Amino acid sequence: MMAQVDLYEVLHNLSKHYGDNCSNCKEVCCVNKILKVNLEDIQKMSKLLGITLWEFRKKYTTLLNTFLKEAAQTGKKILSVEKETEEKNIRILKFISTEAVFNLGEKKVKASYCPFYARDTHRCTIHDSRPKACRHYPYRLMPDDETFEVRKVSTCIISDNFLRRFVKVISSFKDVKTITDKIEKDLKSKQYFDHYPIPKSLVERYIKYEISENKVF
Ligand code: SF4
Ligand code: SF4
Repeated sequence: MMAQVDLYEVLHNLSKHYGDNCSNCKEVCCVNKILKVNLEDIQKMSKLLGITLWEFRKKYTTLLNTFLKEAAQTGKKILSVEKETEEKNIRILKFISTEAVFNLGEKKVKASYCPFYARDTHRCTIHDSRPKACRHYPYRLMPDDETFEVRKVSTCIISDNFLRRFVKVISSFKDVKTITDKIEKDLKSKQYFDHYPIPKSLVERYIKYEISENKVF
């Protein structure tokens, strides 16, 4: 296992090193999506916007159904308090902060844009305070802490190039085989699945290889 490194940061730096960038993509990852955010994200965004957590929650987020179900099952009554107060909302946010349970996005709109996406400039208007999920995209470490998921949509050059480099490097390892076959086939045919789960240990091996063999960083 690698020493404590921020895999997201390393992978994004690797993309920069190889010259990948998002400029032709028009920020497609900010469109048509449900973005899950947690308390820390909400704190940062509301601070930047100069509004309270409660105002942020009311204006920009909806609670995920999974949380509502869980709250019902565990008998938590926190959602049934009649009067919404800032204190109550902070309590709710703290209660659920271990899970990312809010949807961030325009409500009841089919083609949904993130509310912080500027459609004219294709930019994030809260870039420095954007949620973790956006910072990490197109990668996601799953809750088991062993699986690394790469999100692949057709226009995402970042994931495309990562997967190509990853397949090339990992295919050269004698002891690893089948994991790359499917990815390789999809990259060739341009028929993608949304998510490619990859063992975290392989991503770490790939990074080590880039650092030692290709002298990246
Ligand atoms: S991360 Fe991928 S999908 Fe998002 S803007 Fe960059 S290239 Fe596009
Ligand atoms: S917060 Fe910014 S980066 Fe994240 S989805 Fe919204 S516009 Fe995109």
